[in-house]
Amino acid sequence: MKYYSLNQKAPVVDFKEATIRGLAPDKGLYFPEQIPELEKEFIQNINNYSDEEIAFKVIHPYVGDVIPENELRKIVEETINFEIPLLKVTENIFSLELFHGPTMAFKDVGARFMSRCLGYFVKNNNQKVTVLVATSGDTGGAVANGFYNVDGVEVVILYPSGKVSMVQEKQLTTLGNNIHALEINGNFDDCQQMVKQAFADEDLNKKLFLTSANSINVARWLPQQFYYFFAWKQWQDKENPPVISVPSGNFGNICAGMLAHFSGMPVDLFIAACNANNVVPEFLKTENYQPKKAVATISNAMDVGDPSNFVRILELFHHRFLDLKNKLISYSISDDETRQTMKEVFQEENYLTDPHGAVGYFALNEYLKKHPEQKGIFLETAHPVKFYDVVEPVIQQAVPVPDSLQPILKKDKKSISMDAGFENLKEFMMDR
Ligand SMILES: *Cc1c(COP(=O)(O)O)cnc(C)c1O
Repeated sequence: MKYYSLNQKAPVVDFKEATIRGLAPDKGLYFPEQIPELEKEFIQNINNYSDEEIAFKVIHPYVGDVIPENELRKIVEETINFEIPLLKVTENIFSLELFHGPTMAFKDVGARFMSRCLGYFVKNNNQKVTVLVATSGDTGGAVANGFYNVDGVEVVILYPSGKVSMVQEKQLTTLGNNIHALEINGNFDDCQQMVKQAFADEDLNKKLFLTSANSINVARWLPQQFYYFFAWKQWQDKENPPVISVPSGNFGNICAGMLAHFSGMPVDLFIAACNANNVVPEFLKTENYQPKKAVATISNAMDVGDPSNFVRILELFHHRFLDLKNKLISYSISDDETRQTMKEVFQEENYLTDPHGAVGYFALNEYLKKHPEQKGIFLETAHPVKFYDVVEPVIQQAVPVPDSLQPILKKDKKSISMDAGFENLKEFMMDR
């Protein structure tokens, strides 16, 4: 498989180079030259395949021969060595739980896959690779965990001070060793801006071998297709494909779902469930894409004012607005609606969502109210305990802390405080 830059001004590259570079030299996102078509037999009889086999079949054409088959199978197995169950919440609403990985959010899948691929690629390099990443909350923990102690890789994580939950902060600031956390006085967009400038900076790129681990990296983006196929495997009513509601911020996850669909996975409709950051819902109404400053919400991992991956969705639909509108609708949901949803679903269905999952649930429910004959899935993208400070006052109960989380909560935070602005980041990186 070859990848081209969406800015069209850079050479095509293979999976290895796309993974190592992150962003193309012309600052465009990489996009696969072809979308693989999976056999009908596989889609129809997906229940006969193990999760490992499904994941391997899906990702293999994207990786090509830059990783040997046995090595890739091993990477895939390690990536998905936790459950991804589909649970029935109401008669027509199902939850795909993506939070059973080590940092309890779906980003574990992409981060684990990418760290292992990059680890494989740099094994025989004598230059260290520095992974530079901005996080709105969950990416940082997943990347820190995925790359912790991977030889030859240093990780620098930028996160907005005071805008991530306590659990999220612990997950990205307590590991130490090759993981460095920069606490930025600003919002997520400031962090992302600093990272973008770093990749464009000549001095830095001369000194360091920089790569990104944001969802723009193909090695993080593409494996997210796995859980859509796992959902399909668990979907009972194969005659009636699901509506899928995806809590969306940077739009990497939903874009991977759409890719899975283009490869043959049946999906009736995608819903991009957004919080108050409503650039995409507005775009689908007006056909006018207007980036905005991110506003802070209780579903903080989706506080993105200019979603990077949306251009990939446009590319997938060849920039045909009407085709896109046939497959994608979008809602913007307020914090009050999110809280109300968490409360109602907990009281009436005895199911506890996190704020992001609640946004997905609300959007799906809105749609199903008008289409009662259909059934849908919302992605429960994080464990509620990651956001217990939001969840507990709403349900007026404590959220039990899973055992796996206890050790990290006892550790001390180690971060480096920094004002927003690229110059500060540059100074820090040049001194390393
Ligand atoms: C990152 C994240 C999202 C948003 O996913 P995108 O791929 O950026 O759209 C939603 N929910 C949670 C819990 C997340 O961590």
